[in-house]
Amino acid sequence: MRISATIRPIHADQSVCTHRVTSTGKPKEASCTGRAAYTATCSAGDWTQTGTTKAALEYSRDSHLRSHITQPATAASNA
Ligand SMILES: [Zn+2]
Ligand SMILES: [Zn+2]
Repeated sequence: MRISATIRPIHADQSVCTHRVTSTGKPKEASCTGRAAYTATCSAGDWTQTGTTKAALEYSRDSHLRSHITQPATAASNA
């Protein structure tokens, strides 16, 4: 299974924002309190990080995903 990490916008209360927003980030729907930050979650379930900018999270995510890639293959038992 390929591991990936998804970055999603969140509100100030940490709930995920699935609302539509304008191109400037302003909420389009009345139930939306506005996006306060972003959260990234690894599909392997071992990593979650929150940051105020998407760019910073993308950097952290790429670093984390690299840690999965460099894991040794399963041939280690053949010592
Ligand atoms: Zn929202
Ligand atoms: Zn992970």
